[in-house]
Amino acid sequence: MAVPKRRCTSTRRDKRRSHDAIRAFAPSTCPNCKQAKMAHRVCPTCGHYGGAEVIQMDN
Ligand SMILES: [Zn+2]
Repeated sequence: MAVPKRRCTSTRRDKRRSHDAIRAFAPSTCPNCKQAKMAHRVCPTCGHYGGAEVIQMDN
């Protein structure tokens, strides 16, 4: 296994970690039921995506 030749500085370490933070998802609204949902995903409330019902919801 490759072994690092020298320790990386705290600046390099922190610059690498500057992209590691996770952020809360930006909610979008479902065009069918107007509930908040995640973008580019099937609506968890009504099962619609792209103007059609993709998942049969039982309620
Ligand atoms: Zn919906």
